[in-house]
Amino acid sequence: IINIEIKENSYVLIVVRDVSGTKELEKLKKIDKMKMEFLSMMSHELRTPLSAIKAYSETLINSLDILDKDTLSEFLNTIFKESNHLDKLLNDLLDFSKLELKSLTLRRESFEFTELINEVISSLEEFSKTNDVKIILKSNENIILNLDRTRIKQILVNLIQNAIKYSDSKKEDKYVQINYEQNEENIIIYIEDNGMGIKEEYQEKIFEKFFRADSSLNYEIQGTGIGLSIVKELVELHNGKILLESEFEKGSKFIITLPKGVI
Ligand code: ADP
Repeated sequence: IINIEIKENSYVLIVVRDVSGTKELEKLKKIDKMKMEFLSMMSHELRTPLSAIKAYSETLINSLDILDKDTLSEFLNTIFKESNHLDKLLNDLLDFSKLELKSLTLRRESFEFTELINEVISSLEEFSKTNDVKIILKSNENIILNLDRTRIKQILVNLIQNAIKYSDSKKEDKYVQINYEQNEENIIIYIEDNGMGIKEEYQEKIFEKFFRADSSLNYEIQGTGIGLSIVKELVELHNGKILLESEFEKGSKFIITLPKGVI
C-alpha cells in the first residue's frame, strides 16, 4: 500500500507498507471484489432503463405515422417512467459517492412535516396503485422541523418505495402504514408494511452497502442495495437513528427518530 499525503503544502509524506500475506491484503481483495461486483451490477441496472428508452424511441422515430394515439401515449409514458428511473439511479450513485467522500452537507430549513409526508404520498400514488398496495397515513399532527427537507423527503420516499417494492404478492390487503409522533426533542416516524419481511440473520445487514436479501434476488426485484445505506447515513447526518423490526413473511417496520432541530 502506498499512501501519499501533502502536509500543509510544505512537504510530501509517502508511507509504503508491505501488506502481502496479511489480513489487510485479504480485506483489500474483498473490497476490490465488492467494487467490481458493484460496477457490474450498476452497469446492468443502468442498462435496463436505457435499453427500454432506446427501443421505444427508435420505434417512435421509425413508425410515427402509423401509431395510433393510445400506443403513442403508452410509448411516451414508458420513456418518461424509465428516464425517471435512470435519474434516480444516477442520483443514488452521486449521493453514494458524496457520502463516501464525506462531502455531503445538509441544508436546513423550517418546514411542516404533514405537508411533506402528503407530498411524498402523492408522488408515490401511481407506484402504489400499480403494485396494488394501499398507503395509509395514521397521523396529521402538526410538527415543525428544521432539517434538510430534500433529504428527509428522500429518506421517506426510499423507505415507502421499498415497502411497496417488497410487498407480498400472496397477500390480499397489501399496505404501508405511516405514523408519526413527537416528544420534546424528536420526531419519531414509523413506516410499517405487511410485505415479505426480512429474515433475522439479514436484519442488521440490510443497512450495509450493496447488501440485498435473498428474497429480492429470488423474486428478481430490481435494485442496487445502496438505498438503505444512503438512508441510514442521511438519518445519522441529522443526528438521528433508524431501527428495524421485522418478521420474515409477515412484514417490516422501520422506526426513524430525528432531533427536530427547532430551538
Ligand atoms: P435495493 O432495494 O436496491 O435492493 P436497499 O438498500 O433499499 O436496496 O435495500 C436492501 C435490501 O433490504 C433489499 O434488497 C431487500 O432485500 C431488503 N428490504 C428493504 N426494505 C424492505 C422491506 N420493506 N421489506 C422487505 N425487505 C426489504
